[in-house]
Amino acid sequence: PPVARYRGRFAPSPTGPLHLGSLTTALASYLDALHHQGDWLLRLEDIDPPREVEGAALGILDCLAAHGLESSHTTVWQHNNWDRYRAVCRELLNTGHAFYCQCPRRQQDSLGRCISDCKRRDLAAQGNNLRVTLPTTNLDFVDRINGAITAPKRTFDNAIIWRRDDLPAYLLAVVVDDIHANITDIVRGDDLLHETHRQVALYHLLDQTVPSYAHIPVVLTNEGKKLSKQTGAEGLDNTLALSNLQRAMEHLRLDTSSCKTPSCPAALLECALQNWHLPPPRLQ
Ligand code: GLU
Repeated sequence: PPVARYRGRFAPSPTGPLHLGSLTTALASYLDALHHQGDWLLRLEDIDPPREVEGAALGILDCLAAHGLESSHTTVWQHNNWDRYRAVCRELLNTGHAFYCQCPRRQQDSLGRCISDCKRRDLAAQGNNLRVTLPTTNLDFVDRINGAITAPKRTFDNAIIWRRDDLPAYLLAVVVDDIHANITDIVRGDDLLHETHRQVALYHLLDQTVPSYAHIPVVLTNEGKKLSKQTGAEGLDNTLALSNLQRAMEHLRLDTSSCKTPSCPAALLECALQNWHLPPPRLQ
């Protein structure tokens, strides 16, 4: 069969401005897609209003554009996709794979699973988390950067796909949208490396091809925490786009010494593309 054309994406959550860490992830996914003559899509993962910051989504798109990271595809906003997520939930309820869990703790087993008598499939149980029973085998995958990633022995066999506060869960939205957009290659931060097993499980359950993964080392703070809004990451100054990109490239161990004083972000990106390779894994 013909090899699927590479389709990658950057999928920020609009919980704050773009910072050096998220720029680095965006840059890696962009360069990897272009290197493979593939498509690069942008998706705003705005499914969690309580965590979102007013104006952050547009600020992120502006900031990406100021850094030359533009997609020729229409930007996807997850808040428009609820019907799609709901349809998958209904399907999983109908096929007996999803259930509302209203078990009190004492009726859950040591892995936090509902014992079967308190699994409910009726709508009266809405208002509880909707969970899906996930396959527990075949969840290992080979990461392009980190090599073979083995699923832990005690793998949770169920996960929330729709939250009790009536919001879709990240697991559901990310997998359903990546499938919908025919994403073949995911390049993202290694903070999500171990989340991937559950996502692989959901691909299997939905009978879809698992994409290829490359988890890049996320930028850390001096204390060794992931750089994020919570750990005090500052939003990027768009007027410093060239030096922001240089810093992101340094983090990715990309040698840009041959890129002689680029005049604008686009020129730097073009030069970096010639030298593109995935970064080495984080030192353990
Ligand atoms: N929206 C997620 C985040 O900002 C990334 C999701 C993904 O790349 O799969 O952490």
